[in-house]
Amino acid sequence: MTSADLAGDSSTGAKLLTAAREVIPGGVNSATRLVGAPHALTGASGAYVTDADGRRYLDYHAAFGAILLGHSAPEVDDPVRAAIGGIDLVGWGVTEPEIDLARLVVEMIPSAEQMISAMSGSEAVAQAVRLARAVTDRPLILKFQGGFHGWQDAVARNVISSAESAYGLDPLSRGILDGALDATVIAEFNDLDSVRELYDRYPERIAAVILEPIPHNVGALLPDAAFIEGLRTITSEQGSLLVFDEVITGFRHALGGYQQICGVRPDLTTFGKAMGNGYPIAGLAGPRGLMERFSSAGGDVLLAGTFNGNPVSSAAGIATINYLRDHPEFYERTYALGDRIRSGLGAIAGELGIHAVPAGFGGVFALYFAEGPIRGYRDLLRDNDEAYIAFHRRMTDRGFLMLPLALKRNHISAAHTEADIDRTLEAARDVLRSIRD
Ligand code: PLP
Repeated sequence: MTSADLAGDSSTGAKLLTAAREVIPGGVNSATRLVGAPHALTGASGAYVTDADGRRYLDYHAAFGAILLGHSAPEVDDPVRAAIGGIDLVGWGVTEPEIDLARLVVEMIPSAEQMISAMSGSEAVAQAVRLARAVTDRPLILKFQGGFHGWQDAVARNVISSAESAYGLDPLSRGILDGALDATVIAEFNDLDSVRELYDRYPERIAAVILEPIPHNVGALLPDAAFIEGLRTITSEQGSLLVFDEVITGFRHALGGYQQICGVRPDLTTFGKAMGNGYPIAGLAGPRGLMERFSSAGGDVLLAGTFNGNPVSSAAGIATINYLRDHPEFYERTYALGDRIRSGLGAIAGELGIHAVPAGFGGVFALYFAEGPIRGYRDLLRDNDEAYIAFHRRMTDRGFLMLPLALKRNHISAAHTEADIDRTLEAARDVLRSIRD
């Protein structure tokens, strides 16, 4: 929306967006929030968000996947309020919530023996990268085309490079030293040969292979079992660390993360987003032998962060994980709702004769505007991003909020119902027909 559009609009939302642009660059605090006619939002409860002019939207955006139990879930908010009444930030020693959270993560995540807390997924990934380089004494990080691991320099390459790039830049940003970009090497997801080639080209130089086990930042490419197992074998043989970035998949797909589902144990795992149902909490977990390289345990990898492990964020993490542990039906329900929307979208696309294929896993769904099958990054380049943008815009107009970026995913929370899914499918049928015609 241009400033001129906003100036001619007398709605409360337009006034707020105009005011935001005066004091916040672009009016938003994360660039991708600007995509797709941004709104000023004033309320969020359960499966819905409300904008400044009182319009309600059924929310599949879920704050890029941070919301898992629904907005303002009392199961999390009540313990958070109680934590606010307890000890606040002291910055010395340790507090009980930090211990409880780390204990829960260690209990749930197959590869975890210890965990450090962070405030965002990007920080957790930065710690993983630095730890991997220190442990292996090697410089390079191998990531996959299309994978997104936060805004840090070490992972800023080849995030998305389809025609209508979600981020517009590859690397993601200017201001990154060439040396940092050169230290990232890129392979293709689901293609072990591309990984082997990089090991041949850079013998004993690759510190870690990092991947989203399901690359949800390009929708949902499903990993071949042989691919993930092959990565485990190659990294072990080559003396690199295998890092699962479970910032999206962690807790959302299973209490033990995707590693519990695929049965492969990475060396390091990063978490964030859904772990605290919207509160800022993230973590890096791994075996004691690696984690004790952090300076907190007398090692040589700096661990610092004023807000790390703060009681409020820790309380949110504890409450979310406890909820999931006490409600195993959460997974059954969200998986069933995910199947319902994926098969519904597939049926509608078939009926209308549109090249659109639903994808996803569990409670996450995506819609690719391309002929299937979509197995790897190259297939994604066939995506008709313009069709997705039109789909998104028209769904938003009808009160259904999805991620505004093509090749992204949408999220079903504990607060969504079958009726919500059915309403969404009805609207999607009309919108897809209008796009076709
Ligand atoms: N890793 C993955 C897989 C992500 O999707 C993201 C964010 O979208 C991050 C890391 C970075 O997390 P944060 O935005 O909390 O810094």
